Amino acid sequence: MTHTVHARIAGALVMIGFGSIGRGTLPLIERHIGFDRGQFTVIEPSDEFAHLLHQRDIRHLQVALTAENFAEVLRPLFPEGRGMIVNLSVDVDSIELMKLAQEIGVQYIDTVVEPWPGFYFGSTLPNAERTNYPLRERVRDLGKAYVGGPTAVSCCGANPGMVSWLLKEALLRLAADTGVAADPRTREGWAGLMQGLGVKGIHIAERDTQVSARPKPAGVFVNTWSVDGLLSEGYQPAELGWGTHEKSLPPQGHAFEHGPGYAIWIDRPGADTRVRSWCPDVGQQYGLVITHNEALSIPDYYTVWDGADALYRPTCHYAYHPSNDAILSLYEMNGAGQRQPESHILTVEEITAGGDDLGVFLYGHAKGAMWYGSRLSCEEARRLAPWQNATGMQVTSAVLAAMVWAAENPKEGFVEADEMDHVRCLEVQRPYLGRIECHYTDWTPLQNRINRFAEDRDEDDPWQFTNFLAV
Ligand code: NAD
Repeated sequence: MTHTVHARIAGALVMIGFGSIGRGTLPLIERHIGFDRGQFTVIEPSDEFAHLLHQRDIRHLQVALTAENFAEVLRPLFPEGRGMIVNLSVDVDSIELMKLAQEIGVQYIDTVVEPWPGFYFGSTLPNAERTNYPLRERVRDLGKAYVGGPTAVSCCGANPGMVSWLLKEALLRLAADTGVAADPRTREGWAGLMQGLGVKGIHIAERDTQVSARPKPAGVFVNTWSVDGLLSEGYQPAELGWGTHEKSLPPQGHAFEHGPGYAIWIDRPGADTRVRSWCPDVGQQYGLVITHNEALSIPDYYTVWDGADALYRPTCHYAYHPSNDAILSLYEMNGAGQRQPESHILTVEEITAGGDDLGVFLYGHAKGAMWYGSRLSCEEARRLAPWQNATGMQVTSAVLAAMVWAAENPKEGFVEADEMDHVRCLEVQRPYLGRIECHYTDWTPLQNRINRFAEDRDEDDPWQFTNFLAV
């Protein structure tokens, strides 16, 4: 089969991390990106999958990047000062790499904002400072110093990342279906459209149904993507974009005391904070409010300002139902109060059924609620490209789209997915997303209870966050 080569990387290409996402991204790069094989290096401390690189004449640099060595490892890989860094590792400081990429003069792609080890566990920082808000604010502040510099795409995988592009498609669809004229061209235009449509909030609503034939063994944390990645973010405090329609903070909820204040945090781990949410097939389900950059970037991007006052802002957060094995693993870990001795990422070969539904759930508008997103089965992912399950493919194809967009727009400085051309990015990514579906529903979080128990319900406005919150 021939594949469209969307863009060419001039100079060196350096991928950091060759884990589940790195391995899945490699075949997509080979198909859709023009690059010089002699200048392609993968930095990865483990040699478990090094044979895949050797078979392809891609250089493997077997080293773990640290605060001490990252600059001296990376600089010599770009002798001409041209090329791109794609960071798909864990435990490597995104902000330090973004600064270095600006100094060297190369484009940079990341799927998260991560610090060096020591931030997620065992930190002495107060909980408010262990959230993503200060991390994102640092990136945004730093970006002001690099306007017009080499493009550095922050936080661009499936979510954060692709969901911001799907959200724009969803808004245009909702506008068309409710007879609202819409042709937004600027951030202000998009924010005005969302406000005009009456959207009160957005869940990044995900249901991972992938299963293997082998029951989860006791003492093993099983997930469909990085266990380290899930646990790092899962044991940060729950965090969400805070809409202007919200009447009161949730229990243990706190506003941030600095910056633009588009988000709040809850003094509980996101991996143990549940909301009622909705996905196709299953309908109502529990989702975990695990902190994510899109829960911050979306409410920031869609704020309608009147001077210093926010006139409108949506609530926004992740509502994640991980795979059943991951749910069981979290239950086991929360019960034990400590991490299991072993971790395992389900491979595409092991997964016997299921897939990943990942979309945006827009609520509070004229049509009640709408889920819009990607529905990809593992079976289809298997047919589409090697070395990845459905969850991975939604991420790796977004990384591909970010690489293409960065190569086509090389001097945009620091950007997030909300600021990229969603039409172009989804054009690149769509062949790997399975079915993109739109579902309207009359569901609200006040429906469906098993027996009556005391709860804090707001019957006047079903879309208050406290109605979703199940804890
Ligand atoms: P993984 O755990 O499978 O792989 C991470 C890799 O990084 C491992 O191979 C590990 O050896 C390597 N690594 C660890 N320390 C390193 C160091 N100091 N220097 C270089 N490499 C190092 O994780 P994954 O599932 O491939 O995820 C990779 C990243 O992508 C994580 O940060 C994860 O949070 C992120 N991610 C983002 C999204 C999204 O949608 N935005 C989705 C999934 C994963």
